[in-house]
Amino acid sequence: MNNTNNKRRRILEANRLCSNVCDRCKSGTDVTQMSLFNTQMCCSECIEKERAHPKFPYARNCELNALEEGDYNFPGIGLPDNLRPPK
Ligand SMILES: [Zn+2]
Repeated sequence: MNNTNNKRRRILEANRLCSNVCDRCKSGTDVTQMSLFNTQMCCSECIEKERAHPKFPYARNCELNALEEGDYNFPGIGLPDNLRPPK
């Protein structure tokens, strides 16, 4: 058994133990939260990254405005390119 296989098996095992998978980075996580940029359910690490993004205050304002106008299905302003995971 080589190391790559071992590592891969551990990741699969970790994902299986977690109840959720992050929509953005696809890693297993116990807690997910809805993104403010789009409708993805993200792990806390991805949520931290979007909170640090320069467009975050704008995204939050748009969300709040939509809520004030009674739009509870506001899909977000769209995920900035530099928050997309590398393919
Ligand atoms: Zn994530």
